[in-house]
Amino acid sequence: MAITLHHWRNGTAFEGVGDRYSDVTNPATGEVTARLALAAGSDVNAVVEAAVAAFPAWRDTSLAARTRVLFRFRELLNARKPELAEIITSEHGKVLSDALGEVSRGQEVVEFACGIPHLLKGGFTENASTRVDVHSVRQPLGVVGIVSPFNFPAMVPLWFFPLAIAAGNAVILKPSEKVPTAALWLAELWKEAGLPDGVFNVLNGDRTAVDGLLTHPDVESVSFVGSTPVARYVYETAAAHGKRVQALGGAKNHMVVLPDADLDLAADQAVNGGYGSAGERCMAISAVVAVGSIADELVERIKARTLRLRTGDGTRGCDMGPLVTAQAQQRVSGYVDAGEKAGAVLVVDGREVRPDSDGAGFFVGPTLFDHVGTDMSIYTDEIFGPVLSVVRVDSYDEAVQLINRNAYGNGTAIFTNDGGAARQFANEIRVGMVGVNVPVPVPMAYYSFGGWKHSLFGDSHAHGTEGVQFFTRGKVITTRWLDPSHGGINLGFPENA
Ligand code: NAD
Repeated sequence: MAITLHHWRNGTAFEGVGDRYSDVTNPATGEVTARLALAAGSDVNAVVEAAVAAFPAWRDTSLAARTRVLFRFRELLNARKPELAEIITSEHGKVLSDALGEVSRGQEVVEFACGIPHLLKGGFTENASTRVDVHSVRQPLGVVGIVSPFNFPAMVPLWFFPLAIAAGNAVILKPSEKVPTAALWLAELWKEAGLPDGVFNVLNGDRTAVDGLLTHPDVESVSFVGSTPVARYVYETAAAHGKRVQALGGAKNHMVVLPDADLDLAADQAVNGGYGSAGERCMAISAVVAVGSIADELVERIKARTLRLRTGDGTRGCDMGPLVTAQAQQRVSGYVDAGEKAGAVLVVDGREVRPDSDGAGFFVGPTLFDHVGTDMSIYTDEIFGPVLSVVRVDSYDEAVQLINRNAYGNGTAIFTNDGGAARQFANEIRVGMVGVNVPVPVPMAYYSFGGWKHSLFGDSHAHGTEGVQFFTRGKVITTRWLDPSHGGINLGFPENA
């Protein structure tokens, strides 16, 4: 009998009253490993209540004390990250090394948040007017909601909650119902680190839970990451309810290879960026744009590397794991069928994969298409699987137009040895994160992560200084201390003298 996972409220597991459940599976075997309680509306209220109650004391806890909790959390996470990586692999399917990498990238945001005393420093102007001083502070919002996707069970929540907590907010995390255990594990780690109960809470569920957060009057902000249609809905609904909102959506990332590029490097990186995490990354490369005469040679080199990849259970040292669910497997296979039917050349067919795994896992092997047309669904849609499409163009300008016309603008990369071309590309491409000879240009924690166009709704990117601003409100204080020579009554509008 699979275990039942509940919510986390006030520093302990919380059963709630919801009577709906969903299955959590191990994608490498197809086995159901847990059933997850899905929140009812009143469960949302109960969790929000706990966060509301915890907020005032945490807000008033000194920066020194808050930072000490952050440092303890960082040390615990660092020491125990193999445990978390195993959880991620067992529910998401990505290979263990990749799961460890995701935790490390999340940990970098915790390390950035350890500098919160410096990040929250305001400005001070002495004598702005005669004997009048002005200073600015940033204060926490209150209760903040985070809604995360399945593909990074730890890293995406870690983009947000370390800064939210460090800044003095109380957090409610609604993880993806496909991968809930990482969030509950992180909640226990916070407790061990000494975070007061109620400051970090986990609400499990589906749309009912999300809608509850988007409309609850005591939730001040929503940070969402997921597919574009849901991101748009979350953005519009939360904004209509007066909340601050950042909603990161889907992607279709292009990697341009110019004729002067190092083709071995480009082929290596197309394979890494295309098939890492079975293509279930919002920064995955899904379209390789081959410019000019190098296309045949590039496709040959990518093909040779693709054929060498081992697909299987993520705990067995394979290169690539399964997709997250049987539905995802069917969807991705359906796109391969559609690409073939539309006339693209299927160079490597992942539907024929023989995975290294026990049981009926959700596998599609690495798939490579050549001569992909921009009207084909394998090009227009976000497939979110290990399907790499090669689009051939005649010129650099054509490549740039293709990318700039695309509805998404999350990540992109250019491979070239021409510094001038790379510089021009970085300057004129309408995409939020750009790599030069780097296929998956995920910014460091002290920069901010976010795309353009349909890849992000709202104006704040995740973490970095934009994250600090998102989780705080600015306040400016103008001060005059009386001195023995104060000027008496003056009903005029305050002017600077
Ligand atoms: P999803 O949109 O299906 O789910 C994301 C979250 O929203 C989950 O917590 C889910 O429970 C909730 N949700 C789903 N449907 C909802 C609805 N109708 N109303 C309210 N809430 C709903 O996304 P996913 O499949 O979990 O994740 C994959 C997607 O996330 C891809 O499109 C990927 O590109 C995107 N993603 C984007 C980024 C980024 O930084 N831009 C990062 C990671 C993933």
